[in-house]
Amino acid sequence: MSKLRRRVVTAAEAALAQHKYVSTVDVLVGLGWLTSAHVERWRQGRAPSLAKLAPVDGARLRDVADLLGEWARESGLTPSDTSYLSGSRDRAPLIFVGDGDEAVFRTHWLSPDLSPARREQMVQRQNKAPDLTVVAAAGAWTCAECADTGPYQIMSDTGPLCLTCADLDHLEFLPAGDAALSRRAKKESALSAIVVRFNARRKRHERVGILVEEQALARAEEQCLADEDARLRRRERDTARRAAQDVEFQARMAAEIQRLFPHCPPERATEIADHAAVRGSGRVGRSAAAKVLAAEAVTLAVIASIRHLDTDYDRLLMAGTPRKEARAAIRPTLDRVLESWRG
Ligand SMILES: [Zn+2]
Repeated sequence: MSKLRRRVVTAAEAALAQHKYVSTVDVLVGLGWLTSAHVERWRQGRAPSLAKLAPVDGARLRDVADLLGEWARESGLTPSDTSYLSGSRDRAPLIFVGDGDEAVFRTHWLSPDLSPARREQMVQRQNKAPDLTVVAAAGAWTCAECADTGPYQIMSDTGPLCLTCADLDHLEFLPAGDAALSRRAKKESALSAIVVRFNARRKRHERVGILVEEQALARAEEQCLADEDARLRRRERDTARRAAQDVEFQARMAAEIQRLFPHCPPERATEIADHAAVRGSGRVGRSAAAKVLAAEAVTLAVIASIRHLDTDYDRLLMAGTPRKEARAAIRPTLDRVLESWRG
């Protein structure tokens, strides 16, 4: 027993560290007695009990639940009785062992580190009714009620049902892939079901889409379209605003150039301001300093313009003159133009 207890504690600590609570099912998976595929099958309502899937008997599973409870109480964890409903048409309570009281298996032990709000949220999430789960039929099968067959089946208390017998055949299949559309369609649909298909290679069921009401899907599509329109309108507004900002910025910069350099030809001042203000150009005039129109930044923009247009600077650079040398060479011309513009 002490050896099992050690293994239970190790598995429990790992689960607790991972998601701030621990359940008997977590520990059984941690012990290697069950796989997550087993648990998934059981949760879908496709196994009579969890014990039927485990390599040990129900009494042994109970031992694990008891050991977990002992350790959890010693460790100051908070018990939370959790509803375990299946994803079958009937949402039947899930059966762990099938004899005697099952409450011990349903107890989730919550970390004492959780804030009251976080704990409340966790309890609510864990008690939420599970999604109905429909399985895309892989082989021949017959409905437990009408003895017919179909592309989808859902488990019920009496066995697998076709969608007609399960009152789900008015739903439309929406393949997985568009997360926003799926989420909205599910939200809009009073009734919906997750569709899974068995992947033989990976030995587990995988989600392939959802079944939703036709009108819900139509509404969801409208919302997604409306969103695209809204996004486009938003982009247009942003562009217009940025353009307006730039126009205003350019005008203010041109005015500032004229203030600092009264003899600079007005068209030249406008040109420098436009050039400096080109969005994302990374030029001097777009620097943060120029944005606040600091005199130094405005002067740098003016100097850059003079270098390129009134001196041999570009030609020197093209001829292979090092930048520092070229700057020194054009310096007298540059200073002369600057002085003449200052007046
Ligand atoms: Zn049927």
